[in-house]
Amino acid sequence: MTGDPRRSIPRTDTLLADQRLAAACQEFGADLVKQVVRDAQQQARAGRIEPAAVLHTALAALPSAPALLRRVINATGVVLHTNLGRAPLSAAAVEAVTAAAGYVDIEYDVATGARARRGRSALDALRAAVPDAGDVHVVNNGAAAIVLAATALAAGREIVVARSEMVEIGDGFRLHELLASTGARLREVGATNRVHRRDYADAVGPDTGFILKVHPSNFRIEGFTSHVGVAELAGLPVPVVADIGSGLLRPEPLLPDEPDAASWLRAGATVVTASGDKLLGGPQAGLLLGGREVIETLRRHPLARALRVDKLTLAALEATLRRPANPTTAALHADERQLRERAGKLAARLAASGITATVTPSEGVVGGGSAPGLTLPGWAVRLPSTLAEPLRRGVPCVVGRVHDGHVLLDLRCVPPAVDDVLAGAVERACS
Ligand SMILES: *Cc1c(COP(=O)(O)O)cnc(C)c1O
Repeated sequence: MTGDPRRSIPRTDTLLADQRLAAACQEFGADLVKQVVRDAQQQARAGRIEPAAVLHTALAALPSAPALLRRVINATGVVLHTNLGRAPLSAAAVEAVTAAAGYVDIEYDVATGARARRGRSALDALRAAVPDAGDVHVVNNGAAAIVLAATALAAGREIVVARSEMVEIGDGFRLHELLASTGARLREVGATNRVHRRDYADAVGPDTGFILKVHPSNFRIEGFTSHVGVAELAGLPVPVVADIGSGLLRPEPLLPDEPDAASWLRAGATVVTASGDKLLGGPQAGLLLGGREVIETLRRHPLARALRVDKLTLAALEATLRRPANPTTAALHADERQLRERAGKLAARLAASGITATVTPSEGVVGGGSAPGLTLPGWAVRLPSTLAEPLRRGVPCVVGRVHDGHVLLDLRCVPPAVDDVLAGAVERACS
């Protein structure tokens, strides 16, 4: 049987000596790589591939690079873009996350060696940021905060809520469905456009768990409308759970219509719930702020364990609270003249490379279901719309706003230090 091609199938150790397979052993583990090699040899033995193709077949069968999330330059002008991960973390928060990735004293008192309240320093930071809250608790996201409050305070009972506040919070999630899933019954009051204090007062009774006040964060009802504020609701003899959504802890002059935790607590809310990754500019988290007793009830509820946040989240949240400068506030407050100047420089550089680029006014928005109707005047570089796809597919990926047959690169959410990287990405997209 001389000339049997199967004789020339490369041996396993010969194949594993290949630098690329050796590197793959480091990355994926030797077991996986050996299996890939055996499969390729088997295919050659079965005559499905040439012996000479074994190495190539094995290499091709290796897992591709790990599917990491792709870095995106957000040139949409939407500050809190849910599809792009909402708030980007500050450098301080990123550092804190990295530090927290190892062993940390998350539930440990280094002084005594005893167990301690989980994430107490992050909770202290939140309490310090909102002195009106007697105590605070943190869960996985805003929706989880509402679910915990509903389950712990109203399961088997009624939640009284205005029809005009039954929001859909994105991707098809509706607050009333979320609430119903907790075993609480919803008692809707008022009309779509108007609700009065007496509607709430008539609905409140022995079966009421709490009144829910929701900031209709992602839409506006205009015209013949009326709503009832937290202060008025707080006069009724039941708890008021108030969902501000946005995560503003204190009033933000730029966003006069956005409620904040401190103001609603002072107005009499029993519990305020909010997201961590909206206007606070922190990690995805659900914040619960209220009196000591009610927060203790929430914290002790069995469901709280299922909604518990990770140490990385607590680390990022604490850093965000203690060092509040972050990309979200920077983008929100970006100076219009500076945006124009940066857009001018970028367009000039691109034009010098032969790219059709002009400077144009651009309206940014807060996004993430916050401050509907509010626009943030800014500036963008306008490029041919054919560039939208190559920009998205490039490294780093650039997501602009397609508008009027062009793609606009709005600089509001692009840190100035990234302008050069952005210019390079556009040049590559054109080549
Ligand atoms: C965003 C939002 C939520 C949901 O918060 P997540 O953190 O996305 O779970 C709930 N209510 C309101 C009013 C919101 O704006």
